[in-house]
Amino acid sequence: MMTIAENVAAVREKIAAAALRAGREAGEITLVAASKMNDAQRVREAIAAGVDACGENRVQELLEKSALGAYEGAALHFIGHLQKNKVKYLVGSVSLIQSVDSIGLLACIDREAGKRGLVQDVLLEINIAAEPSKSGFAPEALPAAIAAAAQYPGVRVRGLMTVPPICLRGEENLQYFERMRQLFIDNCAKKYDNVFMDFMSMGMSGDFETAIACGANMVRVGTAIFGERHYPEK
Ligand SMILES: *Cc1c(COP(=O)(O)O)cnc(C)c1O
Repeated sequence: MMTIAENVAAVREKIAAAALRAGREAGEITLVAASKMNDAQRVREAIAAGVDACGENRVQELLEKSALGAYEGAALHFIGHLQKNKVKYLVGSVSLIQSVDSIGLLACIDREAGKRGLVQDVLLEINIAAEPSKSGFAPEALPAAIAAAAQYPGVRVRGLMTVPPICLRGEENLQYFERMRQLFIDNCAKKYDNVFMDFMSMGMSGDFETAIACGANMVRVGTAIFGERHYPEK
């Protein structure tokens, strides 16, 4: 069994090699530990091993682990599907909400940020393979989403995020990562004061090297850091 620290070191090495092959520096890639279903102690181990951020999928789990001090020493991101009634728990508590998938959610985040007198950083989630089961903006809807975001002073768009089809692994997601790269380039031109295309968050345990080759500068890695997740039996 490899330790979490050994796993983080191995992932960092692969990130560095992939960045080098793409003509970039390892330090340009943000490593987010996707820490769902791993307890506070394991999350602390990953932070001690040097991940840049932790990403959680469920608000309840994030709040419980946060109360235990799980995320001290790293940035905290939200990366799962977010219901509007849970937005109030995240605004101001997480440094980045990666998974904003509707204009209604943008409006809701803006409202909560306004109440707290702050600006919340977000990424816009793209449903790059047009999967009916998945949330996220259609690529064609992105320009309108960006224009809408510009109306909300409590929101600062920092880039794009995607989760490609689960059934595909490694190289098979290349086509979607390539589409994301193009979409990112097409929407990079700065037209609004609160929209910045700083981050492209894509790539997970099975495909982060491919994603980096296609321009990802933020990867979300769970299994390769923590090992297989054990889902409770139903
Ligand atoms: C769980 C999760 C990941 C990490 O998946 P692994 O395959 O375990 O690396 C990345 N992004 C999101 C949104 C996730 O939910």
